[in-house]
Amino acid sequence: MRIDILTLFPEMCSGVYSQSIVGRAINKNIIEVYSHNIRDYTLNKHKNVDDTPYGGGMGMLMMAQPIYDCFREVTKDFPVKPHVVYMSPQGKVLTQQKAVQLSKLSNLVILCGHYEGVDERVLEEIVDEEISIGDYVLTGGELPALVLVDCISRMIDGVLPNEEAYSGESIYNGLLEHPQYTKPYCWNGKNVPDVLISGHHANIEKWKREQSLKRTLEKRPELLETAELTKNDRKILDKLKND
Ligand code: SAM
Repeated sequence: MRIDILTLFPEMCSGVYSQSIVGRAINKNIIEVYSHNIRDYTLNKHKNVDDTPYGGGMGMLMMAQPIYDCFREVTKDFPVKPHVVYMSPQGKVLTQQKAVQLSKLSNLVILCGHYEGVDERVLEEIVDEEISIGDYVLTGGELPALVLVDCISRMIDGVLPNEEAYSGESIYNGLLEHPQYTKPYCWNGKNVPDVLISGHHANIEKWKREQSLKRTLEKRPELLETAELTKNDRKILDKLKND
C-alpha cells in the first residue's frame, strides 16, 4: 500500500511514521508513506498558502490552488484517481472498521488542513471522504493523519507478525482485551493469576474470554450492544451483572 500525505508540515509527519513498527515496515518496503509540502506548489512569490475568508470571520483559510496542484503532481502517474481522505472535525469519527476498509486500498491520499481549514472548492474537487479522530478540534490535520496511518498500517500483511497480533486487541472483535502480565511472576507483592501459568490451554482461553467480557462490561458497556456474543458469553454477562 502507498500512502501520500499532503501537508504544510511534512517533517512533523515523517518524524513520526519513520519510527517504530511503521518505520520498520517502510524500511522493509511493506508499505510506502510519503509526505508532500503543499507550500512547494504555491504560485505566489511570497509562498503564501492561505488567505482571509470571503464574508469575513476569524483566521485564515488554505487556498485551493496549491493543494490542487500538489495533489495533481503527486498522483500524476497513478492509473486511477486514488481514494482521498480529508482529516476534518466535520468527518465521521474514525473506527476500527473504517481503518480495516482503508487498509485494503492500494493507494490512499490524506489531506491535512491547517488554520481555519480549507477552501471548500478543492474539497469538492478531490476529496472522497472526511474523517475525524474525535469530537474535539485540533490545530491541524497532521496528528489526525498520523493516527490514521498508524491504525491502517498495522493491519497490512507483514507489518505485525500475524493477523492474531491485531485481531485479538481491544475493539477489533467488538470487546476490550483481557488484562495481560509479563515477568516477573511476583511484582510488588502481586502474583500473576494462577490460570495463566497452569499450562491448561482451554482454561486459559476461558479465563481470557471471561475477563474480556468483564472489562467491557465495566469500562465500555455500550460495546456489548453490537459485539458478537455467544450464548455462553451472555450467561457469563448475566452472572457478572448479578454478582
Ligand atoms: N474551521 C474548521 C471547522 O470548524 O470545521 C476547523 C479547522 S481546524 C482548526 C484546522 C484543521 O485541523 C482542519 O482543517 C483539519 O484538517 C484538522 N483537524 C482539527 N480537528 C480535527 C479532528 N478532530 N479530526 C481530524 N482533523 C482535525
